[in-house]
Amino acid sequence: MQTRFDLIVLGAGPAGATAALVAARAGLRVALIDRAVFPRDKLCGGLITGRCLSHLAALSALPPPDMLTRHDRLVFYRDGAPLGEMTDSPTLHLTTRLSLDHHLLALALEAGAADLTGTRLREIGAGQVTLENGTLLTFSALIGADGVQSIVARHLFGAAFDKAKIGFALETEAPPAPHDPIRIDFGAAHWGYGWRFPKPGSTTIGIGGLHARNPQMRADMMRYLSELGAPKALRIKGHFLPFGDFRRIPGCGAILLAGDAAGLVDPITGEGIGHAILSGRLAAKAVTEALAAGAPESALRRYRHALGPLHRGLHHANLLRPLIFSDQTSPYFARLFHDSTTARQRYMALLAGEIEYPELLLLTLRRLPLRLLRGVRISRRAASPPASGSGS
Ligand SMILES: Cc1cc2nc3c(=O)[nH]c(=O)nc-3n(C[C@H](O)[C@H](O)[C@H](O)COP(=O)(O)OP(=O)(O)OC[C@H]3O[C@@H](n4cnc5c(N)ncnc54)[C@H](O)[C@@H]3O)c2cc1C
Repeated sequence: MQTRFDLIVLGAGPAGATAALVAARAGLRVALIDRAVFPRDKLCGGLITGRCLSHLAALSALPPPDMLTRHDRLVFYRDGAPLGEMTDSPTLHLTTRLSLDHHLLALALEAGAADLTGTRLREIGAGQVTLENGTLLTFSALIGADGVQSIVARHLFGAAFDKAKIGFALETEAPPAPHDPIRIDFGAAHWGYGWRFPKPGSTTIGIGGLHARNPQMRADMMRYLSELGAPKALRIKGHFLPFGDFRRIPGCGAILLAGDAAGLVDPITGEGIGHAILSGRLAAKAVTEALAAGAPESALRRYRHALGPLHRGLHHANLLRPLIFSDQTSPYFARLFHDSTTARQRYMALLAGEIEYPELLLLTLRRLPLRLLRGVRISRRAASPPASGSGS
């Protein structure tokens, strides 16, 4: 077995499979490690935005059409009351992570990455990793794409994330209702929302929001399920969602973090797959260039530069988030969303990747009554958990 690699990628989700694909296509010797045996499922709504599709298209990695269910109707609610429907919006797609992740992994292996799925990692050392069976692999660069609980992030920074600052989500699979529209419910969770995603084999229902502000999330999920008329005895699972606290320095020298391991989930929409794919690609490119220049340690500098626009987008989303979710301004935002087709269209254009956050931020600010600006400042502080941790 080969034990010396230019690049080791830990985690074969969208970020890791993409990184392995791009690096292997560039001619690097790549090992792709994941503890799971694929195909494997992952707790996720499987909403694929236009932004995500364009990242996949840029890699010639679009999934076959039967892996995607197309949706042209989307309905918005707040606290059980309809906020409006979008019928002429950019198309959204739904998929399952069982199929999408397997598809990306297959492309990475086809490109030449060594398949180390079904393998656990025991330890990360200087320029080497040890697998659970004791095998030692050496690397010139390492990409940690091992999700929200990243052991690569822990190795570099002591902790994968700050529990007080990120999100948590609950999800379940209900019986299929393929003709239902996609439904988004603001207010189903604090500083977050609920979703109902109808797929051919099941309907994915979930709620997610800031972990520290949702101590009652399970009860809120039960209420949401009952509001949607879902059966009572569904199996509910939970998972951390790394949004609102992305890593400004995503790595160290020749060790980079991508996807959830770098905290790259959108704090408003909860979208993470597209950003995982983009960051996996950029991390692999930075490593390829750093190795070609004979300077592996320069990988982080190159990666940070390439990630700049995505980091700026997430920063702007963090600024807009209080307007949408805080107690002071969320009723106003709900009214804006209800009354203004433009506001709903802009939100959808954002998901489609047609506009970026500054445009949405400007639109919202332009319509925000001045008296509410004071509330926005207060609520920016409120994005941090309250001292009592009791939620808002
Ligand atoms: C409930 C929920 C719903 C969501 N819905 C959506 C949605 O609809 N649309 C969207 O765009 N995003 C959604 N997200 C976010 C999205 O799931 C993530 O952003 C995305 O999976 C990130 O991809 P990744 O490759 O970084 O990490 P992951 O997909 O988490 O992949 C990490 C991989 O690393 C492997 N791994 C971890 N540790 C180790 C280890 N020690 N050794 C070996 N392997 C390891 C894991 O097995 C896994 O395969 C949702 C998240 C949650 C929790």
